[in-house]
Amino acid sequence: MTTYQPALYINGTFRTEAKTSGAVLNPATGETIGKVPFADAGALDEAIAAAEKAFPAWAAMPAYDRGAILRKAAGLVRERVKDLARILTLEQGKVFAEARGELLASAEIFEWYAEEARRNYGRLVPPRQAGMRQMVIGEPVGPAAAFTPWNFPALTPTRKIAGALAAGCTLILKAAEETPGTAFELVRACADAGLPAGVLNLVFGDPAQVSKHLIGSPAIRKISFTGSVAVGKELTRLSAQHLQRTTMELGGHAPVIVCADFDPDLAGKVAAAGKYRNAGQVCVSPSRFFVHESIFEKFTDRFVAYAKGLKVGDGLAEGTTMGPLANDRRLQAMDKFVADAKARGGQVRTGGARIGNRGFFFEPTVVTGIADDAMLMTTEPFGPIAPIVPFKEVDEVIARANNISVGLAGYAFTKNTTVAEKLASGVRVGMLGINTLNIASTETPFGGVKESGSGSEGGIEGLEAYLEIKLVSILG
Ligand code: NAD
Repeated sequence: MTTYQPALYINGTFRTEAKTSGAVLNPATGETIGKVPFADAGALDEAIAAAEKAFPAWAAMPAYDRGAILRKAAGLVRERVKDLARILTLEQGKVFAEARGELLASAEIFEWYAEEARRNYGRLVPPRQAGMRQMVIGEPVGPAAAFTPWNFPALTPTRKIAGALAAGCTLILKAAEETPGTAFELVRACADAGLPAGVLNLVFGDPAQVSKHLIGSPAIRKISFTGSVAVGKELTRLSAQHLQRTTMELGGHAPVIVCADFDPDLAGKVAAAGKYRNAGQVCVSPSRFFVHESIFEKFTDRFVAYAKGLKVGDGLAEGTTMGPLANDRRLQAMDKFVADAKARGGQVRTGGARIGNRGFFFEPTVVTGIADDAMLMTTEPFGPIAPIVPFKEVDEVIARANNISVGLAGYAFTKNTTVAEKLASGVRVGMLGINTLNIASTETPFGGVKESGSGSEGGIEGLEAYLEIKLVSILG
C-alpha cells in the first residue's frame, strides 16, 4: 500500500514540508488521515515562474512526443489503480468500485488526449487573392491554472491536466484540499512518465488566496474551474483583470422527466441508481424528478424501494453500496433541505436524517409533496436527497424544468419520438440524456449553459479549450 503523504509539486520537485498545512479527514470515520502542505505566496510565484519557463519547449515539442508521455502516465495509473482507488475512497468516501472506475476512466482520458493532441489540424481557407495561402492554426494558449473540487478527485483534475498538456500548455493545478492524495498520485504518475520539470505543478492552500494569486498573474493565460456557481463567478471576475480565457464547469440541478408511456418500474430503478451514485455528490446527478401523474406512485414506490435497499457504510467495506458524504458541510446542508421540505408540508417517504455520529453518513432520502419553489427544487442538494413531484403536460413540465438559473444536465424517459424531439429542443441544458443517464464519456463534450458555466471539457472541445486561434495569411 502506498503511504498517504500528499505533497506540493513545483518545478519538478515534490515538497511535503510547508509553513502551514491542513488536516485531511476520512469521511467514513471523521478521523484525520494525514496533512496537506499549503503553498505560500513565494511557492506560488515559483510555480508560476516554472510554468512560464517550461512553456516554450513543451509547446514546441511534437504532439506525438507529448502524447507518448501522457500515454505512459495512463499506463501507470492503470498499474497502480488498486492503491490509488484505496486512497481516493479513504479521503473522499465513495465506494471502492466507484473509485476504481473513476481512476480507470482517468487513465482512458490521458490516453485519449495523448492521441487527440496529434489531431490539432487547423485548416486552410481558400483565399480571395491569387497566390495567397490562408492558414488557421490552433496554438497553445500559454501557462494555465486549474482548480478542482473534492467530489471527483481523479476525473476532474485529469480532464484539465490531459487537455492542457496535450494542447501544449503548461499547468498549475490547485486540487481540493479535502482530497489531495488522489491529485498527488496523478501528478506523480505524470512525473514518473517523464514529464519535464515545470510542465505540471501541483499546489494546495487557502482556495481564495491561491486563486487570487494565480489569476492575478498576467503570465497565466487560461483558467479552468470546476465547483460551485458562486466561486465560478468570483474566478470569472478575477480573470477580467488580465482577460484570461475561462472554462467554468459549475453546479447543476438536473431535471428528470418521466413520461406516462415509460415503464415506471424501470425508470424508478435507473433514476434511483443514478441519484445515489457518490451519495448524490455529482454535478450531473439526476436531482429533480418530474413524473407524470398517472405513474407517479409506481415510480415513487420503486425509487423508495431502491433507496431502502442501499447498504450505507465505509466505502472500503465489502458490500457497501453508498458511502458517506465527503464533509461535514454537506451533512449540515442535508438537514436544511429536509427541514425546509417538512416546513412546506413535504412528506419524507424514506430517510431524512444523519446516520450515527461517527463519519458523515446520511440516509438515502426521498421527499414528495413539495412545490417547485421549495429549496430542494431550486437549489442543488449535492447529496442523497431526491424530490419527486408530479406533472400533467409535457409543455408544462419543460417550462418547470427550465425555471431555474442553472442548466448543466437533464434527463427524460419516453418511448414517443415526437415527445423526445420536443424535450431535446425544449430543455435548456448542456447535456441531455433521453432514456439513459449515461451522458459523460471521454469522447463527448461536458459542460453547461446559463449559470452552470461556459465552455466544455471532454472530447475535442477539451483540447480546443487550451488553444487560441491564429490566422496566418501568406502572399507570394
Ligand atoms: P465551495 O464552493 O466552497 O467549494 C467547491 C470547490 O471549490 C472546492 O474544491 C473548493 O476548494 C474550491 N474553492 C472554493 N473557493 C474557491 C476559490 N475562491 N478559489 C478557488 N477554488 C475555490 O463549495 P463546497 O462546500 O465544497 O461545496 C458546495 C457546493 O459546491 C455544492 O453544493 C455544489 O453545488 C458545488 N460543487 C460543485 C461541484 C461540481 O462538480 N460542479 C463540485 C463540488 C462542489
